[in-house]
Order: sequence, then C-alpha cells, then structure tokens
Amino acid sequence: MKIPFVDLKAQYLSIQSEIDTAIAQVINETAFIGGKYVENFERNFAAIYGVKHCISVANGTDSLYILLKMLGVGPGDEVITVANSWISSSETISQTGATPIFIDIDPDYYAINEQLIEKAITARTRAIVPVHLHGQACNIEAIVEIAKRHHLYVIEDCAQSHFSEFKGRRAGTIGDAGSFSFYPGKNLGAYGDAGCIITNNDELALKVKMYARHGALKKHQHQIEGINSRMDGLQAAILDAKLPHILKWTDLRIKNAGLYDKHLAGIEDIILPKVRPDTKHTFHLYVIRTGRRNQLAEFLKENGIETAVHYPVALPNMKAYEYLGHSPADFPIASQFQDEILSLPLFPELTEQQIIYVAGKIREFFAIELAVAPGTVNG
Ligand SMILES: *Cc1c(COP(=O)(O)O)cnc(C)c1O
Repeated sequence: MKIPFVDLKAQYLSIQSEIDTAIAQVINETAFIGGKYVENFERNFAAIYGVKHCISVANGTDSLYILLKMLGVGPGDEVITVANSWISSSETISQTGATPIFIDIDPDYYAINEQLIEKAITARTRAIVPVHLHGQACNIEAIVEIAKRHHLYVIEDCAQSHFSEFKGRRAGTIGDAGSFSFYPGKNLGAYGDAGCIITNNDELALKVKMYARHGALKKHQHQIEGINSRMDGLQAAILDAKLPHILKWTDLRIKNAGLYDKHLAGIEDIILPKVRPDTKHTFHLYVIRTGRRNQLAEFLKENGIETAVHYPVALPNMKAYEYLGHSPADFPIASQFQDEILSLPLFPELTEQQIIYVAGKIREFFAIELAVAPGTVNG
C-alpha cells in the first residue's frame, strides 16, 4: 500500500466539475486580477467567519508582514512569537525591521507557552504573534489578556488552523486580526499561493488593504508606498468553490484523527496528540512523538507511508537566527521535541483502512525494536 502525506488529487476529483467550472468562468471573463471572484471570496470568507472584513493577499507570509507593518511595528521594536513554527511567523517580524523574541512551546500542546510570555515583555515590545499550530488553538484567551495589560497587539497566525476554535470562538477572531494561508496543502488550499487577513477593526482593514494595493484604495491615488500583494482571480474562484465543503472536510480530518487515536492506542513508545480542553482541534497535522523518530520515519517510508516533520529545527536554532545568540538550552522543550515529533498522513479523504495500515506498521516497528536486544538496532 502507498499512502501519501496529503492527497490533493483526491480532493480535486471529489469536486472536479465545480472546480473546472470556476476556473473556466474566470478565464472566460478574463477576471485574472481583482474583480468579482476576488470580491466574492472575501465576502464569503468574512461571512463564514462572522467578521466585518476579509482582505485577500498573495500568501500567508504577506498577510503577517502587512499586519505587522500596518500596526506600526518597525525598527527598534520587539515582537513575541513562538520557537516552533514555520519561519514566516518570525521572518515577517524581521522584515519590518523589528526583532523576533522567541518563546518556548508548552510540553502538552506544542504551542507557545503563554506562561513564559510576560517575562519576555520589555519597553520595546509592540505585538505578539501566537501561532495556532497543527490546527489547535493556543491559549489565545490568556495571550489576549496579557496583551491588553501591556498594550500590545495580537496577530493570530491561523495558517494551520482554519475553523479551529477556542471556547467556541474561532481562531483568528479573538486577537486584533487573523492571518491565513491558502497554500495548497493547508486545510483550505488554493491551487497556488494565496492568503488573507480577517479583522473587525475598520481602520486596520482599510490600512492593510491600502498597503497591499500599492498604498492606494483608489486607482492612481497612492497615499503611501505599499507593496503588490494580491490574491488572483483563479485562486479566489477555486477557494470560493471549496468553501461550501470546508466544514465537512474539517469534520473528516477530526474523525480521522480520532481513528488514529483509536488504532494507535496502547503503543507505549509513542505519545499521541492531546486536544486542549474547550477547543476544536482541526488537525491540519496529526503529530506523534517518539525518541526513535528518524528510525520510525525510515521504516514507514520503506513500507510506502510518507511522513513529515513540522519542524525539524526550532526557529531560534536555525542558522538564520544565529545572530540572536541563542543556545538550544534557552528553548529546552522546542529543542528536545524537534527530534521527536513526526507528522503522520492526514487528510479528509484518508480511509480507515489506510489508517489501520499506518497504525499496524507503527506497532510492527516497535514490536521489532522490542524483540531485538537494545543497542543492536541502528547502532
Ligand atoms: C504556511 C504557514 C505560513 C505561511 O503561509 P504561505 O502562504 O506559505 O506564505 C505562515 N505561518 C504558518 C504557521 C504556516 O504554517
């Protein structure tokens, strides 16, 4: 059996005629940039989220950068984010001229440890960029409370957490703004790059829209210098065609995570993902932990199962952040877990039979390990 990490083709085939029609319409009307399809998606995404504004942009990295920039973050400022994320969460802070301040993850949910945030706040801190990693909301309520006490902005990085919830509220609607990526493999994925910003703040919405459109809300009336960050018409039409299916797909992800829980139960050598109480985890990723991560990944690969690691090097341990002078001991949990985490295949169309196969191979791996005297496997 061959099990890919994600199967984008399976999803396309399940709604092929809707996608093909959407693409044909955009081409037929040459609505490539701006126009009806982009406006429709922005309106529909804002509606499904129950927010006042959705501003489409070129990708989820731009959405973070544009938000930071339009909230006034710049040289000399510090912005707090998490040690384990995709580099967009921190490189966009640097792009504004500010300094990223990394916080270790919590050992249960692998998200920013909110208890360490207050100690990291200085007179220069302007904002916090918490990441709802793997599809699970971080403790956004506590983070917003800390931010209020210190007059900081909160930008929620929701690139991995479309339709996730914290105490019944959607991730992305609790801080000052939510930043989304529609990279093809994300829970709601385009057929190329795309992203968006959601917010209930009217002034911020106008600013980010202006900045993303060369600093002009009306053609040729540039009030500031901005950048060119647009979602194109094809991506908007494709996303809009997917939107009516997203809640069903999200439920299927959750169901499949539950099946992994069931079929992996009782394997002592692995730690399964925990769901934070009072949250809806939408399982962008199903991440297990084991001290024999690399050997397990290799064994699964030999058996046709594709896995991934999110992420193999914690951000402060990267060469890119050498200049900050951190050592792995500054982020003990993220530095330990980077060698233990393994993301198993998970997508809505994954079948229980496939999950049973993956779980069986994982069980088999540890059974072989146990049968052989310690120290004789892989040196
Ligand atoms: C994917 C991702 C991004 C960036 O999104 P792009 O659309 O690829 O620019 C930002 N943050 C996190 C946590 C992500 O996973």
